[in-house]
Amino acid sequence: MQSQTEENYLKAIFKIAEQEGGKVSTNALADRLHTKASSVTDMIKKLADKQLVCYEKYQGVELTSKGEEIAIQIIRKHRLWEYFLVYKLGFTWDKVHEIAEELEHINSEELIDRLDNFLGNPQYDPHGDPIPNKEGKFATHQSFQLDLAQPNDLVLITGVIDHSAPFLQYLAQHGLALGSLLTIKAIEKFDQSIQLVVNNEKIIFISHQVAKNLLVVKTAYSNTGE
Ligand SMILES: [Zn+2]
Repeated sequence: MQSQTEENYLKAIFKIAEQEGGKVSTNALADRLHTKASSVTDMIKKLADKQLVCYEKYQGVELTSKGEEIAIQIIRKHRLWEYFLVYKLGFTWDKVHEIAEELEHINSEELIDRLDNFLGNPQYDPHGDPIPNKEGKFATHQSFQLDLAQPNDLVLITGVIDHSAPFLQYLAQHGLALGSLLTIKAIEKFDQSIQLVVNNEKIIFISHQVAKNLLVVKTAYSNTGE
């Protein structure tokens, strides 16, 4: 058994390695967990004693297969709870992350299996992130950042990179949500801001910064007959 803090370390190491590849530095971990490098080093030693991570001084840290298994199960729990909170309890998607951070540490495999079945074994959480299955396998889809789209592309929003509440509130204010259909009208040469049509209804402009933080997939679906 691991403590909540130990679980958060395993999850953080997994996520940083997923984004940046290779071994994870203690500084990167300290940054992500908002703590001091010295506390990180202490915890890493503890996790190494439990054979959940491999650690060499100045080389960084990496998860053992046992550590990775635990990290993936925590992510699975987190994302299933987010799905439950949004689609069954009616929370808005900007509120669920903080609550799921606590729920992810409840340790009952039976509860999570039942939750997964109750929800119909969803593959993506409300932010569009893949939910690993019981065996720890992630679904894959070919989403890309919206700033890479071209004029006349028709895309669906499948996820966000920035999960912060201000960003999600910004999206809600502009009528942008998971599953929104976007038609790219024009991309401004000067600042790469994008003019697009949301759900064939309203034209909006979004900044390059916003586009970079939205994940989309191309779709053939259209109501306009274009
Ligand atoms: Zn979350």
